[in-house]
Amino acid sequence: METTWAHQLRAVGLRVTRPRISVLDVLAAHPHADADTIVTGARAQHPSLSPQAVYGVLKALVSVGLARRIEPAGAPALFELRVGDNHHHLVCRSCGAVADVDCAVGAAPCLEPSDAAGFVVDEAEVVFWGVCRNCQAVAPGKSVQIHEHAIGRGAGA
Ligand SMILES: [Zn+2]
Ligand SMILES: [Zn+2]
Ligand SMILES: [Zn+2]
Repeated sequence: METTWAHQLRAVGLRVTRPRISVLDVLAAHPHADADTIVTGARAQHPSLSPQAVYGVLKALVSVGLARRIEPAGAPALFELRVGDNHHHLVCRSCGAVADVDCAVGAAPCLEPSDAAGFVVDEAEVVFWGVCRNCQAVAPGKSVQIHEHAIGRGAGA
């Protein structure tokens, strides 16, 4: 894995550093992770890494196109390594779960404005909001219990 990352970093003109490798590792293991999750994961590999260093790595990876940053309204920014395919996201209103979905059209922009008003449009930001399968199974009013179950697995239920 490490050599692949090194190759990808060099291909976009970034120096190969341990923090960059470990952030890429974390992103590969946790698609759609938020920055806090990535900091925790990267520091598990390299305890001396500061959160600021991890944020800096994320910014660099996004700016060269190795990672993509998505920002569902009301949620922290999420990061993923699946880039360049104009895929969209399904986001659960209840628990915040995120799933990838291929664009039904393909290349961006997959929607056309009724009137572009002279703009050259290159992207339509599409987020499908709804309720995930797990949350559909939860009767109203039981969300607290489910939440505890998710954190302290096996303590009842
Ligand atoms: Zn949900
Ligand atoms: Zn995605
Ligand atoms: Zn689309």
